Amino acid sequence: MLKRPLAPGLTLYRDRRFPARRHAARHHRYRTVVGIGGNVGDVRRRFHRLAVALERDRRVALLQSGPILKNPPFGFLEQADFYNSVLELSTSMQPRPFLRYLLHLEQRFGRKRPFPNAPRTLDLDILFFDGRRINRADLQVPHPHWNERSSVVIPLAWMGAHR
Ligand code: AMP
Repeated sequence: MLKRPLAPGLTLYRDRRFPARRHAARHHRYRTVVGIGGNVGDVRRRFHRLAVALERDRRVALLQSGPILKNPPFGFLEQADFYNSVLELSTSMQPRPFLRYLLHLEQRFGRKRPFPNAPRTLDLDILFFDGRRINRADLQVPHPHWNERSSVVIPLAWMGAHR
């Protein structure tokens, strides 16, 4: 594991699964980039368990992961720092079934939602989905404000630069 301070409050972690590239044997119709985050308990361990679960699931193929960025919370500030990364996946699911799939994974990894911006074990967001623009009540893609958040931009830029 490599740990590197980037800027005040920002630390980049690299290990066996983050960042990584895979040569996926399975081919699916769409490509999507998913943002992952959390700030309760052992988040980096949870990210690893998530990566293993995705690698084993035939409905998706995990193509690439970014490094993990530790960064301060925004919104509700009285909580622990967040860990964030990005995953590039392929899937043949359509966007809304894919969103439901991610919500199930959040639940499986213990997500509770006591109030907006509350501490969370695992948060999964669709950042991009096959170059599409979606503007529905329950799903906006590209994810709103993705480009204003270092928690997204730094792992994403790293991944983009190493493909
Ligand atoms: P949050 O509390 O930030 O995890 O919000 C989760 C909710 O945001 C989900 O139930 C979705 O309906 C909604 N949502 C809207 N756009 C997206 C997106 N691109 N990715 C994930 N969730 C989204």
